[in-house]
Amino acid sequence: MIDTNRAGAILTVDLNTLAKNYAFLKGQLSGGTICAAVVKSDAYGLGLEPVAIRLADEGCNSFFVALMEEAISLRTILKQHNKEAEIYLLNGVVEGSESDFDHFDITPVLNSVAEIERWSSHAKKSGNRKGILNIDTGMSRLGLDTRELDTFAEKPELADGIEISYVMSHLACADDRTSAMNPGQRSLFDEYRIRLGLKKASFANSAGILLGPEYHYNLVRPGAAIYGIQPITNEINKILQVINLKGKILQTRTVDTGGTVGYGATYQAPRTSRLATAAVGYGDGYFRTLGNRGFGYIGTTRVPVVGRVSMDLITFDVTDLPEHEVVPGTMIELIGPHYSVDKLAEDAGTIGYEILTGLGARYSRNYIGSP
Ligand SMILES: *Cc1c(COP(=O)(O)O)cnc(C)c1O
Repeated sequence: MIDTNRAGAILTVDLNTLAKNYAFLKGQLSGGTICAAVVKSDAYGLGLEPVAIRLADEGCNSFFVALMEEAISLRTILKQHNKEAEIYLLNGVVEGSESDFDHFDITPVLNSVAEIERWSSHAKKSGNRKGILNIDTGMSRLGLDTRELDTFAEKPELADGIEISYVMSHLACADDRTSAMNPGQRSLFDEYRIRLGLKKASFANSAGILLGPEYHYNLVRPGAAIYGIQPITNEINKILQVINLKGKILQTRTVDTGGTVGYGATYQAPRTSRLATAAVGYGDGYFRTLGNRGFGYIGTTRVPVVGRVSMDLITFDVTDLPEHEVVPGTMIELIGPHYSVDKLAEDAGTIGYEILTGLGARYSRNYIGSP
């Protein structure tokens, strides 16, 4: 844990708000639908342990991760806190990983005929039978495609020994409510799952939940919205900002008109300016693309990033603030009520997901509402 006084920035994760987002998503569902939580990539950078334990306290009993290492960490964390939950591994059954599924009670997502065969032969020996079948309806990433589905439909015995708990697929354009991909993928999903005779299904991510009840099926898999990212582009939903990032100002100065800032001297002061340098940089996951484009807030005053972002430092133009309000030690809002993850991401030319998963290891982390 990085010491708060020594850190260049303080990252606050409000688990009470996270719990509200989870409750909001759950509130969209009919009673029979399970609201799982996707906690891959260290719970989208917010911290697997505090996030998973709080979600388990909120009644979440199904988690999705990408990697076996993440699944094992999560199982260990849940055990330590006396929590039981299903853990699903999205990246499937890699050859040689079979015994890990048994030891740590992990359920695989089966992404290909080869994985079905591998899991079937293992299941017959081990008695570990559970699996989710993933079919591809438009991502062309993981999951059985039409060719593989034909193979499987002709030889259902390939899955002997496996108890397929859900059939799942993943939406490509759910963040765009008007995309024809959404109903298109859904009808393909229905066609395949009926063909295979599989009843229980999982289809929606965060945005998919907000597309409507016809996308919910039996289990939904939100990630982003739990962590405070607005799921649907250009729509403000009842998703609340979960994190707050404050950087510490190290030094202030006055520069004359024409004074240059940072590497490459990409900024030249158009007037006599007050500048403040904060102890955060791209080494902390603060995107370099925010140079001359991003903003911070001191109180309610917006201050622009000037010059390039360095590894450990960013410089802001604070001319609009009284000198005594910006001194070494003043904290500047980098993400928070005035400047959301989504807005910062837009200015950085990326998406909130990448901002969150890139949150640096040098921040002092502070959790509100940790059990
Ligand atoms: C990451 C992921 C999710 C979660 O998506 P969000 O947009 O973060 O809600 C759901 N399903 C699959 C297969 C994923 O890879």
